[in-house]
Amino acid sequence: MIRQQTDIAIVGGGMIGLALACLLATQGRRVTVLERHTQPQLGDELALRVSALNARSRKLLEQCGAWALIAQHRTGPYHRMQVWDKDSPAHIEFSAQDVNADDLGAIVENNVIEHFLWQRAQALQVDIRQAEDWKLLNAGDEDSPAEFSLGNELLSAQLVVGADGGRSQVRQWAELPITFWDYQQQGIVANIKTERPHQGVARQVFLPTGPLALLPTPEAHTVSIVWSADQPFAEQLLAESPERLAKWVEAESGRILGACETASPVKAFPLRMQYARRWQHQRIVLAGDAAHTIHPLAGQGANLGFGDVQELAQVLAEVELKDLRALSRRLGAYVRTRKAETQLMIAAMEAFKRGFGTANPILKGLRAIAFALPNHVTPLKRKLAEIALR
Ligand SMILES: Cc1cc2nc3c(=O)[nH]c(=O)nc-3n(C[C@H](O)[C@H](O)[C@H](O)COP(=O)(O)OP(=O)(O)OC[C@H]3O[C@@H](n4cnc5c(N)ncnc54)[C@H](O)[C@@H]3O)c2cc1C
Repeated sequence: MIRQQTDIAIVGGGMIGLALACLLATQGRRVTVLERHTQPQLGDELALRVSALNARSRKLLEQCGAWALIAQHRTGPYHRMQVWDKDSPAHIEFSAQDVNADDLGAIVENNVIEHFLWQRAQALQVDIRQAEDWKLLNAGDEDSPAEFSLGNELLSAQLVVGADGGRSQVRQWAELPITFWDYQQQGIVANIKTERPHQGVARQVFLPTGPLALLPTPEAHTVSIVWSADQPFAEQLLAESPERLAKWVEAESGRILGACETASPVKAFPLRMQYARRWQHQRIVLAGDAAHTIHPLAGQGANLGFGDVQELAQVLAEVELKDLRALSRRLGAYVRTRKAETQLMIAAMEAFKRGFGTANPILKGLRAIAFALPNHVTPLKRKLAEIALR
């Protein structure tokens, strides 16, 4: 067996694992990433999975040295948000001007973010291994590092970060318990060509069957949709032809962008809320979707994960990794801060979803009033815009 040592092993080279790898490498740590896939490639066509990145996430990507590369390739900044309810007068609209910002966020394809983070990580000497058949042998203790077997290698690490997504094997191996509920919804995603340009406006309409988001892509006449549809309706939509799906989008969005046409394959993701009740065990800690997955209705999942990266990199700076007591103290601070933000976000998503997901006429009336108010009260609108920017 060949013995290898690293300071920090990150399982999962998605956007969260790779961003963390870049920041830790800039702190002078030896970092190894275990990722089952090869580097995501850039395509000419707009990819299906996109993320709405807030200012904080973009700043973090800047620190990783990746944002300039991403921005040069293809991004869709948006300057205005419109949210409305199909069945009531409820309507909110706010713009970057309300908060004196240049924009409210940017829509970026996931594979573009991952491609450039990977490139940066390699430039920073991060050792990225294409590995699926790794096995955690132990979680380390006061005197010894955690250990993996990797083919004929024994890899030891002072810290293991599970950034391996919602079905995290690291989390399962460490027996970190989770709380979850199934939204009984599927997130249907597709790229839709529209007759009218989106003009850099992110739109979301709340329907009795679930929220439909129309996100402005870098192409003026293409939006990326995320339709979080209730289960029976989702199945009906998925059984439709691409032409019929586009007609549904056109009708349910009130033809706000004119005639619609499907311009990509259609994919569906089961939607589930999940968070780990414990994030840490010995020399193992979680980050990103491995620690929490939330409803995509406010497009905050990746942003929340980048918040983990920022905090984790900060608490790890200059700590003596070998000293498990010191390490645990820092990790404890990370977990407390990030759990608090995750819980806030989950509560906000629930309030939104319940407030809008209802067919109860009294609640519908109330939400119309609640929504009409902020549209006229500037301080409230500003607050909402600030939340969107966080
Ligand atoms: C429909 C939909 C729309 C969304 N829209 C937005 C949005 O607009 N804005 C936003 O902020 N968020 C959004 N999200 C959430 C966002 O996509 C996720 O939060 C984000 O991708 C999480 O990144 P991650 O790196 O933690 O996990 P993942 O992206 O799941 O990456 C995990 C990585 O680990 C690797 N891996 C897994 N298991 C192993 C293993 N055993 N061995 C080796 N490697 C492994 C995987 O190959 C993958 O590369 C959306 C989610 C959905 C479902």
